[in-house]
Amino acid sequence: MHQASSAKVGFISLGCPKATVDSEQILTQLRAEGYEISGSFENANLVIVNTCGFIDDAVKESLDTIGEALEENGKVIVTGCLGAKGDIVREIHPDVLAVTGPQALDEVMTAVRSHLPAPEHDPFISLIPAGGIKLTPRHYAYLKIAEGCNHKCTFCIIPSMRGRLVSRPVSDVIKEAQALVSAGVKELLVISQDTSAYGVDVKYRSEFYNAMPVKTNMYDLARVLGSLGVWVRLHYVYPYPHVDHILPLMADRIILPYLDVPFQHASPDVLKNMKRPACAENNLKRINAWRDICPDLTIRSTFIVGFPGETQADFECLLEFLSEAQLDRVGCFAYSPVEGARANQLPGRVDEEVKQERLEKFMLHQADISEQKLRSKIGKTLPVIIDVNDDDQVIARAEADAPDVDGLVYIACEDNTRSLMPGDIVNAKIIDSTQHDLIAELVL
Ligand code: SF4
Repeated sequence: MHQASSAKVGFISLGCPKATVDSEQILTQLRAEGYEISGSFENANLVIVNTCGFIDDAVKESLDTIGEALEENGKVIVTGCLGAKGDIVREIHPDVLAVTGPQALDEVMTAVRSHLPAPEHDPFISLIPAGGIKLTPRHYAYLKIAEGCNHKCTFCIIPSMRGRLVSRPVSDVIKEAQALVSAGVKELLVISQDTSAYGVDVKYRSEFYNAMPVKTNMYDLARVLGSLGVWVRLHYVYPYPHVDHILPLMADRIILPYLDVPFQHASPDVLKNMKRPACAENNLKRINAWRDICPDLTIRSTFIVGFPGETQADFECLLEFLSEAQLDRVGCFAYSPVEGARANQLPGRVDEEVKQERLEKFMLHQADISEQKLRSKIGKTLPVIIDVNDDDQVIARAEADAPDVDGLVYIACEDNTRSLMPGDIVNAKIIDSTQHDLIAELVL
């Protein structure tokens, strides 16, 4: 095993955007204390693996990564959602130095310091960017506003891994957002397990920003973030009635007209078995009301097919919902049991073959809707944010596209596109479309 001469830490970040934010906080703290970050296992003195434990594939990927880090480096600290299932990690990899759950910055740092003392403080090495260390490109960043969840969706073990909802103080969130914007971030992606529940645990406590009271709730937070002059995108919002109040902020372009609402299903029986938040709401009526206030609202959602007890009629109901709701962006998974989830005890297991057939049918159905919706944008001029500009292509996203999960806007390379930089927001005229993406030319 190679020994590095200074205090170098290797870091592997797996999992969802919430895990990415945990990773960024650990990396920021490591750099603040003078540790260096190594890009390889063999040049590091120890390795931290931030794991995901959500579905079986993610558990396997996490366990394999820990194994690889042990083999190539030997000194490994495990954190993250799989760490909350500490027994599994230690049973398979008894040699790991420490195991913590998610959001455990202090525990991780204690473990790092005890196995690898921090180097002498050097103010030049310790300098970190104002926005902290980010794993996302410089022009966008995830902003985590709360941790944990008060719901009890039967397919999910996040509440048992991450605990009940704890909202971050609204003034801290705003301060972090300001630091990110000062560091060059042009798009803030607001995340939590349930963004619409923000502040419920602190009874929507009021704090102060610029000598004005700001409540710890989604509306006030969105309003203030929207005043920072960057794109603000809300993820993981549930269709509660109070979400309606956010829509005027979108219609006025204070924040992006974009809502990521994980509906998961449309059949009342399946939703009831899933114990989804706001499952008793009339979601179609709500979507229509939202569109009345903000006609160009983009709605993204995710769904699960083949949930225990899902009948053919339930599935047809879901397809009908898709036709009527005309959602813009949709992801879908075939249900797979998660160890420890209550849904495993539900009757009516759906055959693997049937699940896959339903998944395919669902995706084809939605692909038609997506294609038509994108085609209707041809001829329009839309603001886009540049993600990549290299020699032969310019890749951007419209307001309707969150990074990594939605579509892209490909812009024809011309003389006038050469100076475009990632994070620039420019106008582009849509000239063509595919099933998921748009083709455009720059408008000066
Ligand atoms: S809302 Fe449901 S799916 Fe989302 S984290 Fe909470 S329990 Fe899990």
